[in-house]
Amino acid sequence: MEKYQGVGIGEAIAIGKLRLLRRHDQNVKCVQITDAEREKDRFRRAKTLALRQLQELLEKSLQEAGRDSAAVFEAHQMILLDKEFDESVFSMIDGQNVNTEYAVKLTAETFAERFAAMCDVYMTARATDVRDISDRLIRILSGAASQPMPSGEKVILCADDLTPSEAASLNRDRILAFVTAGGSFSSHTAILARGRNIPAVIGVGDKFLREVKEDDEAIVDGGTGEVIVNPDKEVRKMFSERQRTLTEKARLLQDLKGMENVTLDGKKIDIYANIGGVEDAASALANDAGGIGLFRSEFLFLERTDYPSEEEQFAAYKKVLEDMAGKKVIIRTIDIGADKQADYFRLKKEENPALGCRAIRLCLLRPEIFRTQLRALYRASVYGNLGIMFPMITAVSELEKILAICSQVKAELKQQEIRFSDRTELGIMIETPAAALISDKLACMADFFSVGTNDLTQYTLACDRQNPDVKQFADPHHEAVLRLIEMSAESARRHGIRIGICGELAADTTLTEAFLRMGIDELSVSPDLVLKVRRAVRGIDLSIPAQKIILLDS
Ligand code: PEP
Ligand code: MG
Repeated sequence: MEKYQGVGIGEAIAIGKLRLLRRHDQNVKCVQITDAEREKDRFRRAKTLALRQLQELLEKSLQEAGRDSAAVFEAHQMILLDKEFDESVFSMIDGQNVNTEYAVKLTAETFAERFAAMCDVYMTARATDVRDISDRLIRILSGAASQPMPSGEKVILCADDLTPSEAASLNRDRILAFVTAGGSFSSHTAILARGRNIPAVIGVGDKFLREVKEDDEAIVDGGTGEVIVNPDKEVRKMFSERQRTLTEKARLLQDLKGMENVTLDGKKIDIYANIGGVEDAASALANDAGGIGLFRSEFLFLERTDYPSEEEQFAAYKKVLEDMAGKKVIIRTIDIGADKQADYFRLKKEENPALGCRAIRLCLLRPEIFRTQLRALYRASVYGNLGIMFPMITAVSELEKILAICSQVKAELKQQEIRFSDRTELGIMIETPAAALISDKLACMADFFSVGTNDLTQYTLACDRQNPDVKQFADPHHEAVLRLIEMSAESARRHGIRIGICGELAADTTLTEAFLRMGIDELSVSPDLVLKVRRAVRGIDLSIPAQKIILLDS
């Protein structure tokens, strides 16, 4: 029995045989050609077919896993449509008389290395995308099947890394789980696994692949990130029992649909869903979310070559509001910058992008982008119950400027006789220690607060959330973080405004009781966790004094 540790995705456990993914295109040979036109034609045909396959994958992903997952294939299409890629392939074929496969492989490697060298997590991840495209083209050129898929009994797929296309093409009927030697928690592959509900452990290290054999039996624990190969009888039995318990728990959660989020002593709160795209509203509704607590609107701006127009944005916001049919929808204005980059913004390279020109700072520095988004939001407001939320607030003066711009946008719409809802609420994210510390002042000016615990933890504890090496220091349960949340809740209560939590901590059920005692009104979590949080709320009795005083008076 051998144990390996990686990063777990999903809470499920899978037990089964390992299938090692062998890549067929490791040996692309350089062949001298005489007919360059024929080779270029082969490339054009392969590219057309690849674009068609990507379109199919995109549509499948949209249906199965939502907008974030599908965005990967849009990105692949864009890379494939990039003129520079074509030019490089053609110039190798013409200039060096090499075969198409070789020209594609070399071009992709040059592109991938360029991306990998960028000091930016988002751009580094693009290196995998380019290699994925190269694999696809070479498979097509060599006449191989479009995707490497195991057949027969359900297996645990193991690979050095899985490209996003491979993760999206995994057939749920044949795959129990997957394990990869490389990969990071925020990679597209991880996002796809989460979106498609496939348990996975990523980043177990190369040693794993060197040591395991085809058909070895293994246990993959998506909750703990553990992979146990050739478990002994006792361990296998223990995990089988845990697996049964988890399945039963998931089944029981379904019974909570339609029930209230109410504590044993009668306190009600709202449990909303966080979404990244228009299509995710369906998943929020399917999981019985009471509303949308955070729509990360910047996802509409990523994976594209130019700004979305006012019309495009209007259509997206209107659709979510209509889909949610009168339920609260809180749309956050763009949080671009730091790890979320879009080339066309042409942002300057920063030494510390998390402390740089991101989110509301960018909007205030480039008001034309901000105004376009606000116009689209206000126009959409008549189609439902909209709240607009501003990220990364640190000062009263910022909020004053924001409110002034909102008033100007509304005045302009009025003058143009364009309808908007006057009931649209304006809220702010509490995700910097500064915002929490001056929350009493901010509460006089905002309609609601929503605590972004991911950034609040990063900024309070001085731990870059993109840096896995400081993960151990970035404890969101740290008393300093909890005190700042409590302080903000107190300010909200005193000024009679609502306060929610929309960072990852909102789904941490070990803190649900503490949050309720602080007076948090709403928890917004990823759609598949809504029922889990509902169950936690329904088991709490606030009439019993708290066991442990962790906060201000401690
Ligand atoms: C947060 O910071 O907690 C948050 C919800 O925003 P994001 O994760 O998008 O930065
Ligand atoms: Mg944030």
